[in-house]
Amino acid sequence: MPYTKLAHAGCDVDPITGALTPPVHFATTYEREPDGSYPKEYVYARWANPTRRLLETTLADLEGGADARAFASGMAAVQAILQCLAPGDHVILPDDVYHGVRSLFRTFFGDWGLTWTEVDQTDLDAVASAFRPETKLLWAETPSNPLVKITDLAGLAALGKAHGVPLIVDGTWTTPVLQRPLDLGADFVLHSLTKYIAGHSDVLAGGLVTADETHPIWTRIQALTMGAGAVADPFSSWLTLRGMRSLGARMRMHCSNARHVADFLAQHPNVTAVYYPGLPAHPGHDIARRQMTDFGGMLSFEVAGTETDALAVTGRVQVFTRATSLGGTESLIEHRASIESKPTTTPVTLIRLSIGL
Ligand code: PLP
Repeated sequence: MPYTKLAHAGCDVDPITGALTPPVHFATTYEREPDGSYPKEYVYARWANPTRRLLETTLADLEGGADARAFASGMAAVQAILQCLAPGDHVILPDDVYHGVRSLFRTFFGDWGLTWTEVDQTDLDAVASAFRPETKLLWAETPSNPLVKITDLAGLAALGKAHGVPLIVDGTWTTPVLQRPLDLGADFVLHSLTKYIAGHSDVLAGGLVTADETHPIWTRIQALTMGAGAVADPFSSWLTLRGMRSLGARMRMHCSNARHVADFLAQHPNVTAVYYPGLPAHPGHDIARRQMTDFGGMLSFEVAGTETDALAVTGRVQVFTRATSLGGTESLIEHRASIESKPTTTPVTLIRLSIGL
């Protein structure tokens, strides 16, 4: 990842004022010319807003994509791409998918007529046998949340191509600094910008990036954002752009701190498992080395004993804060099973850490 590019993300010197950082455009409507045209491109804020557009073009550039759209949350981006499918379509999900995505299928998109199969995507043969004639989307998340499983993205993309099914990768945990899924053959990348990219636990936003702006799903995404408007607001877009400029430096420190914590936990007598791809013993370590530039700031571990013992650990922390979410400057600790919608595959002795700065 070009750190120089990140340090200047979204910042061209303003030709009128000389300002080094972009302004926030709050206007919802834009003037027409006497002939009725809109030569300056902007018409109405739901369709496009200059600050949001700057975030979108910057994000597309960082991912090596053709275009991007910014949403009001990561889940609004998830909802948008699923709304581009039709009732009867089938989606392949990882078995350890972010629980909010699974929950949206269970509570909404199932009723709407989508079907889905959850597969252990560390096993590409299992993924291959999950395709059906009506499969329209292959969903991946690597490292997965919270079991930190690693999936071979190039292998997954090849399977998708062989079946004519687009691959979408949730890149929230990795950001384009650690992993660029489009380079590995994915068609779309999804982000909860709320996490590392905005980076300070004070913005809710999401993003979708496409490799091909003529893809039929992308045409629908454009129509959906303009028509339904679950888009990022100007100030959140601006804060996300501001956070992006330090993303490179922050990711380096998140990764190096997480590695220290993982090493410490790996030799702790009361820890039965550590899930961190940077540990050579992690089953996905070699794939992670190949497709990521570093191993990330997220890890999970299991404590010896019961759920009560795990909760007792979270109850005794001093520097860490007991809270959900991830990717901020602070370190967070979470007993994960108790926040996830049930049923979940997350072990009750598992604790998830977001390692801060
Ligand atoms: N994807 C992942 C991996 C997440 O961790 C989250 C939120 O925790 C989301 C998507 C949803 O993003 P948001 O909370 O911005 O809606």
